[in-house]
Amino acid sequence: MRIGAHVDATDPLDEAALRKADAVQFFLADPQGWKAPQPRADAALLRGSEVDVYIHAPYVINLATTNNRIRIPSRKLLLGHAGAAAEVGAKGLIVHGGHVNAGDDLTVGFDNWRKAFAQVAESGGHGVPVFIENTAGGDNACARRFDNLARLWDAVGEYGVGFCLDTCHAHAGGEDLLDIVDRVKAITGRIDLIHANGSKDSFDSGRDRHDNLANGTIDPDLVVEVVRTAGAPVIVETPGGVDGQATDIAYLRDRVGR
Ligand SMILES: [Zn+2]
Repeated sequence: MRIGAHVDATDPLDEAALRKADAVQFFLADPQGWKAPQPRADAALLRGSEVDVYIHAPYVINLATTNNRIRIPSRKLLLGHAGAAAEVGAKGLIVHGGHVNAGDDLTVGFDNWRKAFAQVAESGGHGVPVFIENTAGGDNACARRFDNLARLWDAVGEYGVGFCLDTCHAHAGGEDLLDIVDRVKAITGRIDLIHANGSKDSFDSGRDRHDNLANGTIDPDLVVEVVRTAGAPVIVETPGGVDGQATDIAYLRDRVGR
């Protein structure tokens, strides 16, 4: 079982060592901005490292929206990040499920997702596995509720897309963690990465505030059970810096076994 953490992008391998992590996830550019990622001096080191690397795409990306001025740059930004993620030997590029605007038909959002992958597939693919992550909030989200996730997967499943299950987002998004691995796999057929996070907010609150595993509103045994049954690598995106995340990693290792 590979377990790691979301860390600062400056020196990810040092951050991994400090946390005794088998894997790291980081951003390649400002997560709230539209800037393309720049080449990294440590690309060869990251590629050759025994630490598994995952890249989280910027939050501004929304491949579902009907707004051309967001959707088209989103495709470009994701493709740029995919190229840069491949450069550092990433095992996956994680992107949020996105949403349509109030009053828009989600059917259009799912079709926009399909078109995004169809377009890239024609020119050789992203070059790195892309994992869609479930999200916590909003009434028009593509990957908050699993009835919508099923419709999303009908649209994109044929393109070999991966899935990243975030336990905080599921809980806050109103999907019970009990048996969630089976319910996800019935839809996607796969779980490629677990984001193992506690939640500061209550079930179905729609709020996205991560907490450490032993704190917050999620029974940590449920997170342990998700990690155990999913059989996928794990990234904690929890607060508290080195200490907080090292504690969460050790917590999972102790209970899941290696
Ligand atoms: Zn996450």
